[in-house]
Amino acid sequence: MKRDYYEVLGVPRNATAEEIKSAYRKLALKYHPDRNPGDKEAEEKFKEASEAYACLSDPEKRAKYDRFGHAGNPFGEGFGGFDFDTFGGFADIFSDIFGEVFGTGARRRAVRYRGADLQVHRTIGFKEAAFGTDLEVEYPRPVVCSTCEGSGAKPGSRPQTCRVCGGTGAQRFSQGFFTVSRTCPACEGEGQVITDKCPDCGGAGKVSRTTRVTVKVPPGVDTGTRIKVSGYGEPGPRGGVPGDLYVVLEVEEHPIFVRDGSDIYCEVPISFPQAALGATVDVPTLDGKVEMRIPPGTQSGRVFRLRGKGIPDLHSGRRGDQRVRVVVETPTHLTPRQRQLLEEFAREAGEEVHPRRKSFFEKVRDFLG
Ligand SMILES: [Zn+2]
Ligand SMILES: [Zn+2]
Repeated sequence: MKRDYYEVLGVPRNATAEEIKSAYRKLALKYHPDRNPGDKEAEEKFKEASEAYACLSDPEKRAKYDRFGHAGNPFGEGFGGFDFDTFGGFADIFSDIFGEVFGTGARRRAVRYRGADLQVHRTIGFKEAAFGTDLEVEYPRPVVCSTCEGSGAKPGSRPQTCRVCGGTGAQRFSQGFFTVSRTCPACEGEGQVITDKCPDCGGAGKVSRTTRVTVKVPPGVDTGTRIKVSGYGEPGPRGGVPGDLYVVLEVEEHPIFVRDGSDIYCEVPISFPQAALGATVDVPTLDGKVEMRIPPGTQSGRVFRLRGKGIPDLHSGRRGDQRVRVVVETPTHLTPRQRQLLEEFAREAGEEVHPRRKSFFEKVRDFLG
């Protein structure tokens, strides 16, 4: 359930714009990611408050929200509809709120001096996904250019102070009652521009290099699982911390097993005599062959459960089950002797039809009248 925006900010429904702003300021200060590094709960609270503020601080959006609630709100029913990355830029609009406390410099340092995250996709086998593996990942990773040591400037030359922003990296202007601060487009917020570009990196300050890393894939991963490798993203500008590498997994299909969460499913063909008389059949599992008892009179399609033969749960490590569906195969190429025996069998069975067929034909009689 999505919380009411007024409740999130802790203000009454008739709160003034000033009260809303002040309530958000308090929450934003408390939960801002810069102040709570690595704290997921604080981050969620910060997002929730920011979303509430983004809506309630806009008179048009607020009026719509007052009338229709979350159904009429521009960010949709869940947080999924609210693009926080966009809001990150959007948050610059409220630099009068953050600017006072963190200072533009501090904010910029936190944001700009961390390298970008990288993402790669890798396919792994069904069994590797079930039991975990060490995955060798080779990928192109931008590293600091050694020629210019990341400055982007040709050795011997120096970056010049940006003329557009005067070195502050930001452009400020007024929009309504907000002071809008926007990243300077000329220097992209760096405050400096490179006139003589480094010949090896073209001024980017980084070059691509093939990087290898061994990624521990835990048991129970599935298609779409993202594994974070800390510090293997792009290097941080000017000696900042590097970003992270995310390995997004795709799990190959298996010729025998179909996966359903931590359960697996397979079909095993059995013969008509095995179904009728009962038998012990070999069933493949992820741990090798096991023997499974088929009781006499087993119907085609019956599902047996092998407990603990599934895939470990990624979080709890508890293994799911394997469901085995037996399919009775009707014999096709009969020898004369087999045919004779079956005909004899049919005569012997006579009117004594099987319970399932009996109830089926009764239903058909009722249906057709
Ligand atoms: Zn360079
Ligand atoms: Zn500039």
